[in-house]
Amino acid sequence: MKLNIKNIRYLTPDDWRVLTAAEMGSRNHEVVPTPLISQIASLRSGGVQKCISNLAKIGLIAKVKNAKYDGYRLTYGGLDYLALHTHTKASTVYSVGNQIGVGKESDIFVCADNAGRQLVLKIHRLGRISFRTVKSNRDYLRNRQSASWMYMSRLAALKEFEFMKVLRSEGFPVPEPIGQNRHTVVMSLVDAFPMRQISKVGDPAGLYAELLALIVKLAQYGLIHGDFNEFNILIEEKTDEATSTVTLIPTIIDFPQMVSIDHANAEYYFDRDVDCIKRFFSRRFGFTSDEPGPFLRDSIKTIKKRLDVQVEASGFSKKMAKALDTYMKEHGVDGDAGEAERDQDEDSGDDHTELSPANQHVDDVEEPQSHGFTNENLPNDLPSQMTIL
Ligand code: ADP
Ligand code: MG
Repeated sequence: MKLNIKNIRYLTPDDWRVLTAAEMGSRNHEVVPTPLISQIASLRSGGVQKCISNLAKIGLIAKVKNAKYDGYRLTYGGLDYLALHTHTKASTVYSVGNQIGVGKESDIFVCADNAGRQLVLKIHRLGRISFRTVKSNRDYLRNRQSASWMYMSRLAALKEFEFMKVLRSEGFPVPEPIGQNRHTVVMSLVDAFPMRQISKVGDPAGLYAELLALIVKLAQYGLIHGDFNEFNILIEEKTDEATSTVTLIPTIIDFPQMVSIDHANAEYYFDRDVDCIKRFFSRRFGFTSDEPGPFLRDSIKTIKKRLDVQVEASGFSKKMAKALDTYMKEHGVDGDAGEAERDQDEDSGDDHTELSPANQHVDDVEEPQSHGFTNENLPNDLPSQMTIL
């Protein structure tokens, strides 16, 4: 999905007021009646109509002719603007640059704060369903999907942010959470590549052990990542110039699918996370371990802390977790794990050919082995491409 931010600086305070009114109205109305927008915005007469047409012209709201009444719905573009506006006011984000990732359910951009520190802006887009579920769900979704995409995308962003905060505070290798608003999360930019792009490592056994230990440690803190695979593990190579030894430092990202060890399918998710790593190491690095496991039941014999309970208490409630979980299940949202499983024969690319570009990972449109950050996306080149908000 395009994020066209070039108009954001030209919106007037009245435009923002009307856009906010459209958002407020959309809590109870899928199509917000024009009089309701006027009433909420309460601008002087005549002003509202001009703002509405401005906002509609740049695609932040869209006119919907309904059988009963005419009105407008807030678009993803409108929600993007509102979120970015809030991040700007909070001095979280000052400028936005290149898109560095296109997931099935999110868009990832490089951005920067006032001091020029490079960050990542992740925009959750849960209404954008993956291709493989479209056919079977098309009619069903037509009736059900539209009302909840905004709320579900917010929930995904809130969940990701809350988990990132507790994980970071316990010293897990995750990005630094900077801010969250509506369906967006701002975090530190990790200067590393997804493991999927790494063709060789010096010591696969060491990295393998470290990653499995992370899965076990997460469980000891009450959590299962749920999407622990080569797409969501960033690997930074640090070379010690003096000794020429290379250290690989993993960072874990992408938390909307995280589950508690109390989840009904906890064992399934735990085993799937473990299997993803085993399969990838065997396929990519020719490394297999003779040791079985690890297993969830062994891992949780020593519980160190219950971060799942902590998150529940801190703003991402059990009810929200359930709502998001149900939505993801109904819509076939399975993160990157499904992708990783289907990716057995990764060089043929056969299983990606049917995807439309909007539904592809950036990984899939680049040449094999050169995924993710393309040259023009490398952090060094960013300043010239940043757009100030
Ligand atoms: P999705 O839910 O779409 O899979 P991810 O959070 O996994 O979204 O991000 C998609 C891609 O964007 C990652 O594979 C990675 O290449 C890049 N990315 C995401 N977050 C960061 C970050 N904090 N630093 C660097 N790259 C990131
Ligand atoms: Mg991911």
